[in-house]
Amino acid sequence: MLASFSRVECRGDESTPGPPLCTGGYPQVFPGRIFEDSPLGYGVCQPTRIDWLPVLAHISPPELRRKEATKKMYQKLLDSPDLEINPILQSPPKHRLKSRNPIWSRGNQLLSQNFNISEAWTNSWISSDIPNKNLITSPSVKIPGFSLPRREWVLLNHFRTGQGRCAELMKLWGYTKDPNCACNVPQSMSHILDDCPLYKFNGGISNLHSVTPEALNWLKALPLRL
Ligand SMILES: [Zn+2]
Repeated sequence: MLASFSRVECRGDESTPGPPLCTGGYPQVFPGRIFEDSPLGYGVCQPTRIDWLPVLAHISPPELRRKEATKKMYQKLLDSPDLEINPILQSPPKHRLKSRNPIWSRGNQLLSQNFNISEAWTNSWISSDIPNKNLITSPSVKIPGFSLPRREWVLLNHFRTGQGRCAELMKLWGYTKDPNCACNVPQSMSHILDDCPLYKFNGGISNLHSVTPEALNWLKALPLRL
């Protein structure tokens, strides 16, 4: 799974430092480091949100896959009366230790809730506050552009997540001193996409997310290394 995640997110090449999200192929967590002169308008650099990664990789979040596997296993055991554990499942022993979480308690709970991994993922996505979450209505559906060449795929995902090697974030991460774009305003990913007189894409983030032909041409022609 780590390999999949590193494929969907960019890693800086050897000559250029990558953002914290990308180094080592897995997102690093910043321990609440204070940036008093942050151009972003907040004082603490928050950990990089990783909620986007399962969506980009088209792999369900691990905690949901564990629940799904538990439910399937429990149902399989229930349906196998010849197994020695089956009578235990029919009449489970009293729960004695808090530290133990036997399959009959968790599995029974998931079955009675009629756990559905797609619904659970969608509910979790809706209740989150991650950037550009409105682009995704069902996180379990493969997103557009999955088969794009690496450069365009990585670039596209950096705009989707708002995380990339734009000047504003590069300054925040301590790689550069100038947070400004060539047009002399702070260069965020959304600035490049929506506002920059030099680079902006007229179709906006929704068309970029859908990878329209115009969006693909824009991505290919964008002269920035983000
Ligand atoms: Zn600009």
